[in-house]
Amino acid sequence: MTIKKNIAKINKQLAGSAARLIAVTKTKPIEDLQEAYQADCKIFGENRVQEMVNKWKVLPKDIEWHLIGHLQGNKVKEIVPFVSLIHSVDSMKLLKQIDFQAAKINRTVNCLLQIYIAQEDTKFGLSEEEAIEIIESEDLKSLHNIKIVGLMGMATFTENFPQVRREFKKLKTFFEVLKTVSEHRQIPNVELKEISMGMSGDYLIAIEEGSTLVRIGSFIFGNRYIA
Ligand SMILES: *Cc1c(COP(=O)(O)O)cnc(C)c1O
Repeated sequence: MTIKKNIAKINKQLAGSAARLIAVTKTKPIEDLQEAYQADCKIFGENRVQEMVNKWKVLPKDIEWHLIGHLQGNKVKEIVPFVSLIHSVDSMKLLKQIDFQAAKINRTVNCLLQIYIAQEDTKFGLSEEEAIEIIESEDLKSLHNIKIVGLMGMATFTENFPQVRREFKKLKTFFEVLKTVSEHRQIPNVELKEISMGMSGDYLIAIEEGSTLVRIGSFIFGNRYIA
């Protein structure tokens, strides 16, 4: 019951904002996902490929699956048939691998570029310069089976909320810059509309700073005792 209550609470907070809720279900059992589904929450985020595949197989097919964790090239093939959005693209090489697998099954896979905004060195992601390089590269134009639809970022894990807010603002500002660049250049497979930012500890700030996708796990499902 608490899962439903928590989702209802978040949905109230999101009402009137541009943000949609992604329930981060990593490490959680199928029953928890079913309870969320019954609360009409049908976008799930997972950070491990095998776990996402296993859950996708047994749950209703109207669920949107978002990969939010680091993706290795050799795992791309397993998720490309069903994934709705890959949040964690952090190289041109990975984009090419996704495009290659997607082309084989005639799908277009939506992707976000993960941008490094935190002051921690444990987080994956691209610098702003690297992201611009990808958007402006000639190679990108030949990838017909991927579409870059936005950016993702993780703020520093800290109680220093002014810092978290600054990091989200930075991502939003960069989003606007990149949007201008890509529209100016009329790059066909880039259409920036999503900003994936905000987790259990900081999603209210993220919404205020223009998030369109909040990724919330522990606030809905309780703490995770394994990584
Ligand atoms: C685990 C995870 C989340 C959710 O974290 P919570 O603090 O439990 O809400 C969000 N984004 C990413 C990339 C994650 O790995």
